[in-house]
Amino acid sequence: MQLFDVAIVGGGPAGSSCAAFCAMAGLQSLVLDREKFPREKVCGDCLNPSCWSVLDRLELAQRVRNLPHSKLCSVAFIAIDGREVIVDLPTGADCEISVKRSLFDDLLLRRARELGANVHEQMTVTGLSRNDRWNIETASGDFFQARMLIGADGRNSTVAHLCNLLPRPARERVALQAHIPLPRDFGNRIVLQFLPEGYSGQAPVNDTQLNLCLVGTPPTISKLRRWAERQFELPANQGWRTITPLTRSSVPSAHQNLFFIGDATRVVEPFTGEGIYYALRSGELAAKTAAKILHGDDRDPALREFGRNYAQMYRGRLWINRLSRAAVLRPQLGSFFVHAARTNPSILKLLTAKIVLPGDPVNRERLRL
Ligand SMILES: Cc1cc2nc3c(=O)[nH]c(=O)nc-3n(C[C@H](O)[C@H](O)[C@H](O)COP(=O)(O)OP(=O)(O)OC[C@H]3O[C@@H](n4cnc5c(N)ncnc54)[C@H](O)[C@@H]3O)c2cc1C
Repeated sequence: MQLFDVAIVGGGPAGSSCAAFCAMAGLQSLVLDREKFPREKVCGDCLNPSCWSVLDRLELAQRVRNLPHSKLCSVAFIAIDGREVIVDLPTGADCEISVKRSLFDDLLLRRARELGANVHEQMTVTGLSRNDRWNIETASGDFFQARMLIGADGRNSTVAHLCNLLPRPARERVALQAHIPLPRDFGNRIVLQFLPEGYSGQAPVNDTQLNLCLVGTPPTISKLRRWAERQFELPANQGWRTITPLTRSSVPSAHQNLFFIGDATRVVEPFTGEGIYYALRSGELAAKTAAKILHGDDRDPALREFGRNYAQMYRGRLWINRLSRAAVLRPQLGSFFVHAARTNPSILKLLTAKIVLPGDPVNRERLRL
């Protein structure tokens, strides 16, 4: 049986980015994903401008721009009573775009494969054991071995569960998502709309389709669905993808020969649309650290550097995420912010700029923010 340097469970943005950077660093990497790609995913499909610097390092930025997508020029925040505030987004080549996850994730996974990662689709990891190496077992009865293991398997991480590290999820909310026909004159904007039962996010993903997300609680989600059916004239048999939890405690990212990246380590509030960036960047950081350790560098300094870079990735951003969570958990509070911003738009402008303004100075310069 081949012994891989790194086995990555999950081939979403975190796993693919990690596999691609591992391959670039000369590591033998394995990716196992339970799905057959291309596949859709519950997501708002919006790529925060912070992503571009990681995509550049993956030599993928132009190929992402070549995918069908929409350039997003503004965010409209709509209060429960229908009043709205519009905040402009940065323009230029590195602006915020929306692109279907089926296309984006497939491109990333293909890039990892192109660079030499060994990718196996339709392989669900079901068992793990460990001696001086990781033994990985799948539902189909296949076995793999690796010196290092990366959990990139999303918010309900099987790897974290099998390692007894998965926190109890707060199943207080649920999200629904669908691609629906793009309403006429929707425009190149993101709509974040507070509703009495939760909120809705909307963004065009190409010339004909709108990504529609609904976030509510199990008792209210059917009301939100009925609102969406009326608002967008959807058929009663409209198909929806669903996901939960939307909130849970984080799992520490670095362990002995084990890393968690992307949603597997930390689930952020979808309202701010940053999860893909954290997935891509944490994949890059874990790959660099794994390469250092496996190439013989001292483990402790490598892990300390990882910890610093990992904290830097979230610096100045998590409080906005917490604020957004507070606002969406009480839509009346969210609506109050929108009303306040109608008289003083600088608050929302500042918050939006913080979200789309990457910490990376290269990006700041490029976006002229
Ligand atoms: C409603 C909603 C809207 C959102 N909108 C946005 C947005 O607009 N912009 C943004 O940046 N972020 C958004 N996010 C967050 C974003 O979707 C996630 O942060 C992102 O998908 C995380 O990527 P990941 O690679 O960590 O995990 P995932 O994308 O979840 O990938 C995990 C992969 O692991 C695989 N897997 C799981 N279990 C196993 C197993 N046992 N064996 C093998 N494979 C397995 C899965 O098949 C999957 O391919 C949103 C989230 C929600 C819920």
